[in-house]
Amino acid sequence: MPPHLPVYIGPDALAELTRFCRTQGLDKLTLVADRNTYAALGERAEAALRGQGCDVLTVLLEADDIIADAHSVMQVLLALDRTPRTYLAVGSGTITDVTRFVSHRTGREFISLPTAPSVDGYTSIGAPMAVDGVKLTVAAHGPLAVFADLPTLCAAPRPLTAAGFGDMLAKFTSTADWELGSLLWGEPFDAAIAARSRKATWACAEKADAIAAASEEGVAALMVGLIESGFCMLDFGETRPASGYEHHISHFWEMKLLREGRHSVLHGAKVGIGVLVSARRYDAVRRMSRAEAATRVSRTPLPDREAQIRGIRAAYGLIAEQVIAIQAPFLEMTTADFEALKRKTLASWDAIQRVAATVPPAVDIEGWLRRAGGPVAGREVGLSDDEVTLGVAFGHYYRNRFTIGKLSGLLGIA
Ligand SMILES: [Zn+2]
Repeated sequence: MPPHLPVYIGPDALAELTRFCRTQGLDKLTLVADRNTYAALGERAEAALRGQGCDVLTVLLEADDIIADAHSVMQVLLALDRTPRTYLAVGSGTITDVTRFVSHRTGREFISLPTAPSVDGYTSIGAPMAVDGVKLTVAAHGPLAVFADLPTLCAAPRPLTAAGFGDMLAKFTSTADWELGSLLWGEPFDAAIAARSRKATWACAEKADAIAAASEEGVAALMVGLIESGFCMLDFGETRPASGYEHHISHFWEMKLLREGRHSVLHGAKVGIGVLVSARRYDAVRRMSRAEAATRVSRTPLPDREAQIRGIRAAYGLIAEQVIAIQAPFLEMTTADFEALKRKTLASWDAIQRVAATVPPAVDIEGWLRRAGGPVAGREVGLSDDEVTLGVAFGHYYRNRFTIGKLSGLLGIA
């Protein structure tokens, strides 16, 4: 793991945290947590810091479904005094994102104390925020350091750990999508970073049983993988190494839930379901000969631009115009462009097969997810079959990237 920022994953994160604050001269802090994460780790962190003379202001976010939105930001702002303080995010993804955003906008730094191995975004520089029913990733900053306390992570609620595992398994399909985009759509690609991401993902898949048992060995492997995935994104400067079609489907569902005021679903839980959708398409590609691919693409007409736009408007609501704008390179394809893409696909068939071979069979991924207690179907997280179908059909429009979602359309894989 390259030395991006200090990351501690071990048996006593509070000893490391207090030492760090002492050596860095950080003696005024704002601790952000919710009731659960305060009980899990925040209270002890507060006591340890006060014990060495730190002035700690504690903010407890209150809500039965905490979202990184204006309400949460306001709760933190209301609790602040005018003392310059370093923030301490004690929680999983949402609390970290709220703290990441507020600390950045108030011109302060923050330290991350993860309470669950649930996402790969702890070291991210962007904060996904819900603004007026729309999810935006706003520019913010990464933490000064991450102190992950293994006993706390091992005791995290099982759905959170399973979600982190789902977010990690997503790197199988996201790196394959990333490579497909480079092969067929000329997107920037970094083979060394993709190799790192795949290696970290395999290291977690091989520990599926230990992760399912929430043993220190398994949970440490998962947290190491999630942090490495975060570093892959930092090194590449965008999310491609960690986010492909499976994430686009998940984002689609997330925005729909948000728009309709429904209870949120853990990021990695939705992503894990997306991974299975994606992996089944890679299965289909692996089974397909070049001759069959040639027959299939010959039957695929250029998608009708107006029909696609009508579909995007119906599916995306408020952000439809934005989606249509970023999809322009695909929506504006001429028949000649489309025929050229088909020729390129057939000419690259061996390389496409090599990419597809990097994704484990969907049945294996499903087995790993099930063992960890993660959902494998939409209805397990409150998504109807129609909503699942809608995400699968429209998720690929979410980003201007060539993924297995786009290739499936070209090859007529339903
Ligand atoms: Zn993710």
